[in-house]
Amino acid sequence: MSTQVEPDVRRVETAPQPMLAGEKSPAEMFLVKLFAVIPALALAAAVPLAWGWGLGWVDIGLAVFFYTLTCLGVTAGFHRYFTHGAFKANRALRIALAVTGSMAMQGPIIGWVADHRRHHAYADREGDPHSPWIFGTSAGALAKGFWHAHMGWMFQREQTNAARFAPDLLADADIQRVNRWFPALTAVTLLAPALIGGLATWSWWGALTAFFWAGLVRVAVLHHVTWSVNSICHMVGDRPFEARDKSANFWPLAILSMGESWHNSHHADPTCARHGVGRGQIDVSARLIWVFEKLGWATRVRWPKPERLARNRKTTSSS
Ligand SMILES: [Zn+2]
Ligand SMILES: [Zn+2]
Repeated sequence: MSTQVEPDVRRVETAPQPMLAGEKSPAEMFLVKLFAVIPALALAAAVPLAWGWGLGWVDIGLAVFFYTLTCLGVTAGFHRYFTHGAFKANRALRIALAVTGSMAMQGPIIGWVADHRRHHAYADREGDPHSPWIFGTSAGALAKGFWHAHMGWMFQREQTNAARFAPDLLADADIQRVNRWFPALTAVTLLAPALIGGLATWSWWGALTAFFWAGLVRVAVLHHVTWSVNSICHMVGDRPFEARDKSANFWPLAILSMGESWHNSHHADPTCARHGVGRGQIDVSARLIWVFEKLGWATRVRWPKPERLARNRKTTSSS
């Protein structure tokens, strides 16, 4: 029997973390691209194969509609509003955002918010639920880290303490109710496309293909896009802002993630309602929040402030 204390495998290898991520190795670049691109290519290859018999315009329309609805529920709702308080919402908008975010099937709202607040509190340090850097910086460690940050962390048994990280949501009866509705909302998000597709084509086959493309595939694609913000956007990309972690702006995901892949900007100023703060950085979620504000449903929106941006922006020369 060894009396030695087992080392904690989740410990961060170098503490404190340096501010810069250093150079990415070719192996790291290759692995990230491999994991990110291959399943997407496989899916894209399935589209022409199924076109005309197992996939049609109704399926595409429903998939795009439910993708947009649930993605924005997560980005503008779960993330920018509930986690970071980037704006104030009236009660109807608050409940609508909680419901549409839940329909992304990324877990009940209170756990989602608690996990993400913990991520910001400990970003890329010990305690972060999904940092890709916990195993080290060798190619093998990064492959493991990528998997852990992307999906692996969800299979760990430890649970974020909601009483510590989301007491505001625990104290909200509306949110408690939506939290309990999660299984029902999961059924709705999978079956609603089937119902609409069946009615639109007046066929069981139409219901089945809509269930597959606008239900299962749509949920899976959004899962991977959201998880990519945790994995890819903490590994690869530009880092124009000072952040204590390895968050990065990864432009190829800007559209699909509806602005969330401007992740370095987000970590530099987490409560800001707009993540794509640079010129030409498309941020659909911020545009939606702008619409909510115009409609009077959202107030006290925390839009980017030039002085904050300037303060956070990296400078090469010190004054
Ligand atoms: Zn992050
Ligand atoms: Zn965040």
